[in-house]
Amino acid sequence: MNYYSTNGKAPIADLEKAVVKGLAEDRGLYMPENIYKLPQVFFNDIDKMKFQDIAYNVASNFFGDDVDGDALQDIVYDTLSFDCPVVKVSDNIYALELFHGPTLAFKDVGARFMARLLQYFLRQGSSACGCATATNGTVNVLVATSGDTGSAVANGFLGVEGIHVYVLYPKGKVSPIQECQFTTLGNNITAVEVDGVFDDCQALVKSAFMDEELNKHMRLTSANSINVARFLPQAFYYFNAYARIKEQLPNSQMVMCVPSGNFGNICSALFGHEMGLPIKRFIAANNANDVFFQYLKTGRYEPKPSIQTLANAMDVGDPSNFARIINLYSQNNQFTPEATHYRIANLISGATYSDEQIAETMRKCYSETGYILDPHGAYGYRALQEGLREGEVGVFCETAHPAKFKEKVDNILGIDIEIPARLRAFMEGKKQSVPMTKDFADFKAYLMQQ
Ligand SMILES: *Cc1c(COP(=O)(O)O)cnc(C)c1O
Repeated sequence: MNYYSTNGKAPIADLEKAVVKGLAEDRGLYMPENIYKLPQVFFNDIDKMKFQDIAYNVASNFFGDDVDGDALQDIVYDTLSFDCPVVKVSDNIYALELFHGPTLAFKDVGARFMARLLQYFLRQGSSACGCATATNGTVNVLVATSGDTGSAVANGFLGVEGIHVYVLYPKGKVSPIQECQFTTLGNNITAVEVDGVFDDCQALVKSAFMDEELNKHMRLTSANSINVARFLPQAFYYFNAYARIKEQLPNSQMVMCVPSGNFGNICSALFGHEMGLPIKRFIAANNANDVFFQYLKTGRYEPKPSIQTLANAMDVGDPSNFARIINLYSQNNQFTPEATHYRIANLISGATYSDEQIAETMRKCYSETGYILDPHGAYGYRALQEGLREGEVGVFCETAHPAKFKEKVDNILGIDIEIPARLRAFMEGKKQSVPMTKDFADFKAYLMQQ
C-alpha cells in the first residue's frame, strides 16, 4: 500500500517509511491510497469470532500488502493479550471498555502494535528514509508526554530488541501513578525528567528531529498518535464492539460515541466504517475544547489554545487528526469544503459539556446504575443519553479505568475506588530518571553521548 500526505507536497511513501517517519516531509499526515472493504461474509459471522481473530482480519485487510501473514498474526495476537468487553450500563447504552491493556489505556494497543511493526521492519533489514547514514543500528524513539502517552509507549516498546525509548516528561507535572508507569521499567526505556512544562518537552523532541548532527549520530523516530501504526489498530476495538452488540442484539442500529481529544481514536473508527463496518452514525464528545463541535455547526475550523478540564487527555485545542478526517471525506480534495462539511456532518454529530455537567453525569450514572464512569467516558455516556434516537443502540468508549483518575473520581462520587493490582505493581518499582534542563544544548549533549 502506498501512502500520500494530507498536504500533498511530499513523495509517496510505503508503509515502512510512513511508520518510521510518522509525519511526511511536508508536515502532512500519511493517508493510505486505498481503504478496502471487508467482505460481507466477514460481517455475517463476526459475532461468532473472538477479539483477536476479528482484529487479525481487519489488520490483514489494511496491512496485508506490506506484512507477511504469519508475522502480522503474531503482531496482532501479541498486541491483544487482553479483552475489550462491551458492558451494559443502562437502557440502550453500552460501555466499550478500552482500558484492559497493560497500562489501562486504550493507547496501549497502538503503542504495542507500532513497536512490533517497527521491529518487523528492522528485522527485514531495510532502512527507510535515509536513516542508513546513522552510525548506530538502534532506532531511538523520542516521545514527549503529559502522562498517558508516555506510559503506553514505554510499556508497548519495553524489551523490544533494536529499539530504545526516551520518554520526556515535565518534572512534578504528571500524576504519581503515571510517573511510575514509565520511570520504573529500566531495560530499553529511559525516562528524562525535564525541568519545565509539557510544551518544553515537546519542543526538545521537535528540535532533536530537526538537528542534522544528531540525526547523523543516531536514528530517531517519534511515536505520537499521528503515526499510521499507532492510530489505525484502534479500529480493532470498534469491530469488536459491533460483534459483541450483534451477539446480544442482532439487527440493531448501532451508534458509536467517542470522547475525543486529538481525534485519533474516532479517526480509526471512521476508517473502520470505510472498511464496511455497519455503524449507523457517530458522535464525537468534547469537553470545553470544542473546535470540532464548532466546525460541525459552522463549517469553519478555528483552532484555539487548549483549556484545562476534568478530562485532561481531551484538552486539545488543535486536534492533529482533523486533517485526516477532512482528507478522508473530501476524498483527497475531490469534494469542495462545503460538500466535505456536509458529508462529515451527516455522519458525525458533536456534543460539548462543562466540568460541572460531567461531574453531575458521573454522580447520576453511579447512583442510578452503579457503573463508575471515569471523567473521559462520562462525556460519551452523556452525549448518548442526550443524542440517542428511537430504535438506536448506543455504545460509548470508556477510554480510561476510573482508578487512573482516582482523586477526581473519589472526590466527585464520594467513594474510595480500589487501585487495580496492575497499577499498584508499577507503584512498587524503583523510580529511575535522567534529570534534564529545558535547554536543547543540554539534551543534545546527552543524546550525543549515547
Ligand atoms: C488519549 C485519550 C483520549 C482522547 O483520544 P484521542 O484519540 O486523542 O481523541 C480520551 N480519553 C483518554 C483517557 C485518553 O487517554
